[in-house]
Amino acid sequence: MITDDLLSALPPGRLVTDPDQVAAYCHDEHSYVTPGRPLAVVVAHEREDVVAALRWASANKVAVIPRGGGTGIVGGTAPVDGCLVVSLARMTAIRELNPEDEIAVVEPGVLNADLDRAAREHGLMYAPDPSSYETCTIGGNIATNAGGLRCVKYGVTRESVLGLEAVLADGSVLRTGRRTLKGVVGYDLTALMIGSEGTLGVVTEATLRLRPAPRKPPVTVAAEFPTVRRAAEAVWAIVRSGAGPSLLELMDRATLEALDRWRNIGLEAGTAAMLLCQADGADAKDAADEMARCCHAAGAALVAVSEDEEEAAQLLAVRRAAFNAISRLGSCLIEDVCVPRSKLPEMFDSVAEIAARHGLPVPTVAHAGDGNLHPVFVFDRELPEIPAEVWAAADEVFRAALALGGTLTGEHGVGTLKRHWLGAELGAESLAAHLAIKRALDPLGILNPGKAI
Ligand SMILES: Cc1cc2nc3c(=O)[nH]c(=O)nc-3n(C[C@H](O)[C@H](O)[C@H](O)COP(=O)(O)OP(=O)(O)OC[C@H]3O[C@@H](n4cnc5c(N)ncnc54)[C@H](O)[C@@H]3O)c2cc1C
Repeated sequence: MITDDLLSALPPGRLVTDPDQVAAYCHDEHSYVTPGRPLAVVVAHEREDVVAALRWASANKVAVIPRGGGTGIVGGTAPVDGCLVVSLARMTAIRELNPEDEIAVVEPGVLNADLDRAAREHGLMYAPDPSSYETCTIGGNIATNAGGLRCVKYGVTRESVLGLEAVLADGSVLRTGRRTLKGVVGYDLTALMIGSEGTLGVVTEATLRLRPAPRKPPVTVAAEFPTVRRAAEAVWAIVRSGAGPSLLELMDRATLEALDRWRNIGLEAGTAAMLLCQADGADAKDAADEMARCCHAAGAALVAVSEDEEEAAQLLAVRRAAFNAISRLGSCLIEDVCVPRSKLPEMFDSVAEIAARHGLPVPTVAHAGDGNLHPVFVFDRELPEIPAEVWAAADEVFRAALALGGTLTGEHGVGTLKRHWLGAELGAESLAAHLAIKRALDPLGILNPGKAI
């Protein structure tokens, strides 16, 4: 069998070929991309397993699909026929947690929330916090440059990665970056790897920046608005006020209704949108008061400021449950456009207008402080694939975001699903540069083919 060489290059139990077991590695959260049939799965326990897998794959010109927690929603881990899936989910060691330098060195399968919990034992935190933080891995976060609720203050994954170890397509091991906060020697290969969606190398270790965890509980502002536009205007005003929110999230009426139906959140009849804002740090109370003032000035019907930690946790839990609530309504295409923050009101108007014209429910949640909207196109669960009218509406949303100076994806990545629109954002020259980089690092084109670029 073609995999015999690989089997002998790996310690026992690390190559899975049984079709039923292999099937467990074929789906991510996006079930609309029909997966191909992998030849086998390497369940890596250490870097050398990944090296052996990639050497073998190069020698046999077999495609390799790196896989972390499988929580991606753009078909980034979808296998192609005859490929080798390399799962990093068992590489879960936190090799170093250094409170003096506020650094962690971790394997790629460490869950985001596990790293944060470990850091908090030292009074530190790992700042990027995707809503999937209990199930997504650091390797997957790096490959997608994941964002999250706290990113409005602390930046996305990119701002927390100092250095990487990655196995390249030919099995050689590349080390990028450093342990220092600053450094400009050489090209920034760490940045190149971040967000490359497994197309340039397989991340096997990351040196990450930790931050001091806020000493006091954050102060939370919850504001209800009679229109989404007013809530979006409040976001822009908060950003410009210099209050420095540590969290700034917006949920529209359709999202709140889905949450209310599921969890009974006591939704008022006149509420069209809710804004959740938080401030942490020494001046949190003053910052929260400033954010509350911005909400009042933008026309909020109700503004509540709270220093109660339990209440803040409940509000955040509601926000984190938003996608689960929406997914009870039907099948979902979760979109991810991002616009300059001054354009948020216009982008919300565009989404509403496009949804109404196509007669589609499109509940929208936003990491509003980053200008990042998640319009969720809901459609009949019985349909086997995303219907054409949903794609037509999504296409209009993408083009509206681009016209406002925005981007197709703020944090989820391009994966399989958005390659069609890549040229519209990147342009011919940029696309050519992308392909030249890909050819230089992966001349056989075996790393995650058909994804990202
Ligand atoms: C309920 C829900 C909420 C979500 N909320 C957010 C959110 O708030 N913010 C956000 O950014 N995303 C969010 N996501 C999307 C998803 O969780 C992120 O994209 C996450 O970073 C994926 O991590 P993973 O470990 O699951 O990676 P996977 O899904 O396994 O893989 C994602 C991509 O990374 C590549 N990859 C994985 N590991 C490696 C590695 N070690 N080396 C090289 N390439 C690798 C894969 O090939 C694939 O292209 C959410 C998803 C769900 C289901």
